[in-house]
Amino acid sequence: MSTVLIIALVGFYSASFYNLIFPSASLLDLIIVGLAGGLILLFSILVHELSHSLVAQKYGLKVSEIELYLFGGVSKIEEEPKTPKSEVIISIVGPLSSLLMGAIFLLFVYLPLNLHPILAVTLFYSGISNIGLGIFNLIPAFPIDGGRILRAILWKRRKNLLSATKSASRVGVFVGYILMAYGFIQILTTGLLNGFWLILIGNFLTSSARNSYNQTRNEFILSNISVKDMLSTPNLSIPIHIPVDIALRDYFYPYKKSYFPVNQGFDIVGMVNIRDIKKTPINRRAEISVGNIMKKISEFPSIDDKKSGKIAFQRLSMITDDPVLLVVKDSESERFIGFIGKNELVSSLKFWSSHMPDLEIKK
Ligand SMILES: [Zn+2]
Repeated sequence: MSTVLIIALVGFYSASFYNLIFPSASLLDLIIVGLAGGLILLFSILVHELSHSLVAQKYGLKVSEIELYLFGGVSKIEEEPKTPKSEVIISIVGPLSSLLMGAIFLLFVYLPLNLHPILAVTLFYSGISNIGLGIFNLIPAFPIDGGRILRAILWKRRKNLLSATKSASRVGVFVGYILMAYGFIQILTTGLLNGFWLILIGNFLTSSARNSYNQTRNEFILSNISVKDMLSTPNLSIPIHIPVDIALRDYFYPYKKSYFPVNQGFDIVGMVNIRDIKKTPINRRAEISVGNIMKKISEFPSIDDKKSGKIAFQRLSMITDDPVLLVVKDSESERFIGFIGKNELVSSLKFWSSHMPDLEIKK
């Protein structure tokens, strides 16, 4: 979708540019210029992103996909770079390739080749756009390329990726606000369209700076805590022989939770979900016990308490069954000691982000 939009938009601008130089241009000429301009810029953005991806892969980072946006693309690199140096190199190749492509396009225009006006204008427009793209991406606003370079420099200096990301994201948020403010001024003074794009880009930058910081922070927290720091120990469980109607009356309704652990003596043996209770016929709820409909503990994916939070997160995100729960076992005795679900994940991120130093960014 955004691919078509990029071609249409850039095409529209490059055709208007051609029309400015040759006011008597025919509609066919304008369509050709527009299509060529759009396709060349799309190709240029792909080359820019591909250069990031290839270098990132060379440094052993996984790249899942390239997303295209109106003003460029974003290579989805799944992990944080391992060293400041690799981050600088991965980040700088993109703007460099844009600047290089821009220079090559412009070179063709200035060589005495006697180009057809359509080709000359298209090459000129593509050259200027690539140089613009290269320069824009060098602005030190995280998470765009220049901001990643800034983060790497701060990271090397402070030896702290998180604090470096925090400062670089603040610049990103700040630059985003400046772009939006400038967009508003443009709308008031010159016209709607240019201001509109600036506001869109500024807003995108501000929100992606915040999101990228939060992601880095969450990853930092998860790699620094263990499963033991995240689990909840059930403080209330339903004895296995309790009939379903009593479980509803004494547990589900008063505590308003959608599932409860089931115990047999001192052991937690399963988990009963309100959804499964609802499936039982109402007239038989006094005979059916929670033990009959519970899901056994052994059927849940498990994790031992010494594993890192990051591994718990990865396992949780692979679970598709409801409730999304990981059973935590003591690494020595293999006994059930608690569980981790979405709630535990959210509340531990929240708790540890305010109890680890230097973590917060003002919204
Ligand atoms: Zn880039």
